[in-house]
Amino acid sequence: MRLQKILLQVGFTLLAFAHAAAAEPLKVTLLGTGTPTPRLSNFSASTLVEAGPEKLLFDFGRGATMRLYQKRVPLGALTAHFITHLHSDHVVGLPDVWLTGWLAVPFGSRKTPMVIFGPKGTVAMTENLTRAFAEDIRIRIDDEHLPPEGVVITARDVEPGLVYDKNGVKVSAIAVNHGEKIKPSFGYVVEYDGKKVVLSGDTKYDERIAAAAKGADLLVHEVAVIEPALRENYPAYRDIEAHHTSPEEAGRIFSLAAPKLAVYSHIVFASVKPAPDVPEDVLIARTRATYAGPLLVGRDLMTFTIDDGVKVADGAGEAIQPSGK
Ligand SMILES: [Zn+2]
Ligand SMILES: [Zn+2]
Repeated sequence: MRLQKILLQVGFTLLAFAHAAAAEPLKVTLLGTGTPTPRLSNFSASTLVEAGPEKLLFDFGRGATMRLYQKRVPLGALTAHFITHLHSDHVVGLPDVWLTGWLAVPFGSRKTPMVIFGPKGTVAMTENLTRAFAEDIRIRIDDEHLPPEGVVITARDVEPGLVYDKNGVKVSAIAVNHGEKIKPSFGYVVEYDGKKVVLSGDTKYDERIAAAAKGADLLVHEVAVIEPALRENYPAYRDIEAHHTSPEEAGRIFSLAAPKLAVYSHIVFASVKPAPDVPEDVLIARTRATYAGPLLVGRDLMTFTIDDGVKVADGAGEAIQPSGK
């Protein structure tokens, strides 16, 4: 009888623990909010999503390794990686995360294959990278005795739909419209413990994102602002603009989806006079033409903790209040 009581007690404690573990908040960190522009304040596209035991990296923009180091997240601790599309500003950081993450040091230590999902061409790219870095791989296995399994990449070219389902975390790819010649191009939906985060990837105005993000806790969307004079003088900027979403268009997507919080990341900004930083006031004012809800302009290392609501902190851990209601 006594034993039964103790076992019951242990059972309850375990249950309570399991519940506490499952209820751990979903956390999103913007590692890179920029584009190919080599701005120190905005590294190129990369986002970390932490859900229970899963640490998921979305895109390998320039400097992803450095931002993860700043957040004290060992590269070898990442459990899966997802690529939205194969534009260089989303994958130039891949060799760095891959090979630095393999080193037998506290910020690396990957001992098992690196898991990567992405659009068609992802497998071919990882095979080619493995060929490109063959000498480094040979040397480090021979000389430093690094575990050969830790440098293996298990990549898969995926289609829209559920691509990852582990430890209560579901990741689905959605097709987005980044232009006729950039297909496939994905956004991603992460679901965990009744919470939902949507990442738009690079896209023009696409209501499929609004549909996927209906009632989401967090919608991270790209945006582009290019000054008209620049557009007239450099045709390249017209092309860039044609592949992205304006603040007014993003506002329409936010209004349709009505997320608890809308955030800009992958902020394309080009001005005639080189500006040291992205003008947040311009982005917000233009978005307000079509959206009145909670909005933030993302900054590198900004963190979103999603529980009953969404708490936001900057890279230094200071709380941030979104604009709008
Ligand atoms: Zn792109
Ligand atoms: Zn991009």
